[in-house]
Amino acid sequence: MSDAPLPLPPSSLRLTVNADALGANWRALDGMSRPGRAGAAVKADAYGLGVDACVPVLRDAGCREFFVAHWSEVASVAAHVPAQQIAVLHGPQNEADCAYARALGAVPVINSLEQARLWTATGGGQCHLMLDTGINRLGIGPSEAGDPAIAALDIDILMSHLASADETTAMNRIQAELLAEAAQSISHHRLSLANSAGIALGPDFACDLTRPGLALYGGVPRAELAATIRPVVRVEARILQCRRIAPGEGVGYNAAFIAGSHMRVGTVSIGYADGFLRQRGPGNALIHDGRMLPILGKVSMDMVVVDLAAAPDLAAGDWVTVPWEINDAVQQKGLSAYEMLTLVGARLRRV
Ligand SMILES: *Cc1c(COP(=O)(O)O)cnc(C)c1O
Repeated sequence: MSDAPLPLPPSSLRLTVNADALGANWRALDGMSRPGRAGAAVKADAYGLGVDACVPVLRDAGCREFFVAHWSEVASVAAHVPAQQIAVLHGPQNEADCAYARALGAVPVINSLEQARLWTATGGGQCHLMLDTGINRLGIGPSEAGDPAIAALDIDILMSHLASADETTAMNRIQAELLAEAAQSISHHRLSLANSAGIALGPDFACDLTRPGLALYGGVPRAELAATIRPVVRVEARILQCRRIAPGEGVGYNAAFIAGSHMRVGTVSIGYADGFLRQRGPGNALIHDGRMLPILGKVSMDMVVVDLAAAPDLAAGDWVTVPWEINDAVQQKGLSAYEMLTLVGARLRRV
């Protein structure tokens, strides 16, 4: 018996990450980050698109700083870049986290005086520091900047996070000023503030390093980025089976669709477990070559049924496009572009 893993047969579901667009988006955001440089937020499996598909592209484009949220996310990124380039935003919660950080060489983001003391007590070493300038999520407050626990740290990046960078509000400048003020008393090498939307706020927000996530993957959080950012994601699924149904027959759970005439329908291999949520059911369509294939009945966990009237040539095995326009309010169905990306199911990334 061979130890080589058995290769998977062809999938009926695929996510295509447009590497050219992803690389171009990073380079554009990096250019807009001058006088600083751009890093990349790759948490949540690169916003649902897959670390293995995205991190090598970002690395080859020139990215040298990668941000994840959990310690469990470090290893998959470290398969592509040096661990020293990976920052963990949640920081160390306990000694096990500190030991893991040191064993791998990944850099913790310190978010509190407790985390600062823990990191120092377990041996210290280079870290980043999050300053909370108003989002009230993670980070030390400006009033804690003078604490001895902070003075004891070896801080590379002093960072803060904008709460409303996607809006034009006075809060953005207030946060930038609070960070600049704290930077005078906290010893550090580099300063970082802007996420994707923050980059569009201009050079005053770029500091030494920006941390775009959403816009890398095609999201447009501010109109200033619309002309620059290219779509990255494409989702397709195969027709598993075609069938003919007669007037009065129902489709799917609870027969939520009842045929009014003879129809040819196709069962497509994508469902809510893949992030194709049930609110994308009736009233929406899948697409083949510009032809709309309206969705019939409820979306199941692994399947959805479409009307093939517009595409009588389609048969089992054919691919259809599942619209995933993350900036389109109609397709968003009340979800944000962030949610549309991160709910892309794991089965799509396995191919
Ligand atoms: C997720 C995250 C980012 C990236 O934000 P986008 O809006 O996706 O560009 C940057 N910084 C921190 C601290 C984050 O948590």
